[in-house]
Amino acid sequence: MFKIRILKLSRILLLLVSTSLSLQAQHALLETQTWIHGSDNCSTQNDSLVQVVRYDVNTWILRQNKCIHYEAPFMYLFVGAERALLVDTGATQDETKFPLYTTVRKILGQSSGKSSSDLPLVVIHSHGHLDHWAGDTQFRGRTHVTVIGLTADEVQKATGIASWPEEEGKIDLGSRTLDIIPIPGHQKASIALYDHSTHLLLTGDTFYPGHLYVDDWEAFKKSISRLTEFAHKNTISYILGNHIEMSTTPGVDYPTGSTSHPHEQMLPLSVVDLETLHSALETIGDKPVRKVFDKYIVVPK
Ligand SMILES: [Zn+2]
Ligand SMILES: [Zn+2]
Repeated sequence: MFKIRILKLSRILLLLVSTSLSLQAQHALLETQTWIHGSDNCSTQNDSLVQVVRYDVNTWILRQNKCIHYEAPFMYLFVGAERALLVDTGATQDETKFPLYTTVRKILGQSSGKSSSDLPLVVIHSHGHLDHWAGDTQFRGRTHVTVIGLTADEVQKATGIASWPEEEGKIDLGSRTLDIIPIPGHQKASIALYDHSTHLLLTGDTFYPGHLYVDDWEAFKKSISRLTEFAHKNTISYILGNHIEMSTTPGVDYPTGSTSHPHEQMLPLSVVDLETLHSALETIGDKPVRKVFDKYIVVPK
């Protein structure tokens, strides 16, 4: 009897371990993911110009090498049954220094089983600052590529947002849909994107482990409030922004413009982190103030 119980217990344990391993294997664990974070001497470093991390079977996270441009923005690639969506094109135009188009086409060729240039690609931007669209020139005029414009008006039309910024839009990739949530404040055309397949919430430069520069304080407050409400209504796996500017030491950032970020904070933020910002903004009220948090710093312009 005792022996049978031990056997049953070990079988249950084995099942639990294998289930948790297979769950973990479904997507990359971003808490432990390391990123190319530049170098004190960029002339001697040999890291990839574009770091590619496969998040799951049809989702990729890309980061521009910090030695090419200190902003080192992140970009996201979602592949659906009928088309793919690239969010942002990085901080550098020159394809020889920053080969984003060829990198994306290579990924699409491997993942879709089609010829790399056959899968239609839509390019959208987290917002209209240059470090997120400088690479657009590599994509414009290419076969099967649509680049959505940079203004709020163009984003609204392309994604079917009935009323900006109160309502949401959608992008259908074929058996995969992303919600587009207007979040002006950092910049007029800022959006968040929510992927129903991975439950990733992308928040651009509005909410990330770094300097949250606020151009329009009132709009920013309202956007963070709507974003928090959205996060409460939906399952969220990770909240992902477009830069890392904070170190692993709480409240300590890197100097702007540095090409070396040793000991960077991890990329993902959580819904609790978002709630913290939301309630702090409510307490601060209408007068913009700079405020340092453990994982990000609010900086009114
Ligand atoms: Zn920005
Ligand atoms: Zn940026």
